[in-house]
Amino acid sequence: MNHWRFGRTGLSVSTSGIGCIPIQRITFAESTRLLQAAADNGINFFDTARVYTTSEERLGVAFNDRRAAIFIATKTMARDRVGIIADLETSLKNLQTDYVDIYQLHNPPSVPRPGDEMYDTLIDLKAAGKIRFLGITQHDLTLAREAVVGGNYDTLQYPLSVLASDDELTLPALCARHDVGLLAMKAMAGGLLDDAKLAFTFLRRQFANVVPIWGVQRETELAEFLALEKDPPEYSAALAERARRYRAELAGSFCRACGYCLPCPVGIPIPTAARMSLLLRRMVAENFLTSEWREKMALIKDCRHCGQCSSRCPYHLDTPALLASEWEKYQTAISN
Ligand code: SF4
Ligand code: SF4
Repeated sequence: MNHWRFGRTGLSVSTSGIGCIPIQRITFAESTRLLQAAADNGINFFDTARVYTTSEERLGVAFNDRRAAIFIATKTMARDRVGIIADLETSLKNLQTDYVDIYQLHNPPSVPRPGDEMYDTLIDLKAAGKIRFLGITQHDLTLAREAVVGGNYDTLQYPLSVLASDDELTLPALCARHDVGLLAMKAMAGGLLDDAKLAFTFLRRQFANVVPIWGVQRETELAEFLALEKDPPEYSAALAERARRYRAELAGSFCRACGYCLPCPVGIPIPTAARMSLLLRRMVAENFLTSEWREKMALIKDCRHCGQCSSRCPYHLDTPALLASEWEKYQTAISN
């Protein structure tokens, strides 16, 4: 496994990390095996979040005997001091540790700075030794740039994949200039891409400072990334052409689930509804075929086409059209 310096944190992190959303879907025994296999093969960076249900607990169980050998990043969606402190305490308990390597503000609507309650709370937690470095996750490119240039955060996590725009692909260079560690979330476009070799080489061979956090839930998926790390393929002209085709086909319909489009006046749960066919493929489908979800999805029929969602979407998606298409696919799934 290769390692590189993770921005100004100075941490020597593996060039591939693991994103710990999918492990929520497997048993604790399976997640322990999977996480330990990743660490045994040299992956030392694991990203989770307070809101990923049992994900932190699974990391705690898998790594309580080797905490010092790995780096853990987690996140809080709390927006005030009391909430951030409470979240961190819960995370530490779940993770069976007394410190978090990277503590990230989870997609805040602005970039907190020194003097702001949220930011100052992080500084206090760092002084108390409970967090080592400050991070932020973003879906909004303007805010992501502000966080990098402002110099107050050690790391940024942002969706970067084959489907990223040219503007978004300037982030690695910006982070390198400001010595900020860069984590790529959704490097497989949240499951929209099914080509691990392409997803891997696109980031790994073009940018020398991006740590993708691969969301894996099966040992075969882990094995695929380990093999790619062992012998990283060239980003060939053929792969570049494949990337171009994916982009042309999918970039305009890839909902990143950031939630900036909310609220919808008729109550459509857009971040989930706009990815429903993907969730049915990648998650436990039954969870999204309940009567509760059928009712929520049916709200799409009441869309007023007010345009509020698309005007707020940082990815300029035609959200109502996307929802209509997801509604059609959902009906097919229900009838099968
Ligand atoms: S266009 Fe439809 S989905 Fe979008 S905010 Fe308006 S009602 Fe909701
Ligand atoms: S439609 Fe756009 S704003 Fe809404 S969740 Fe998806 S990517 Fe985010």
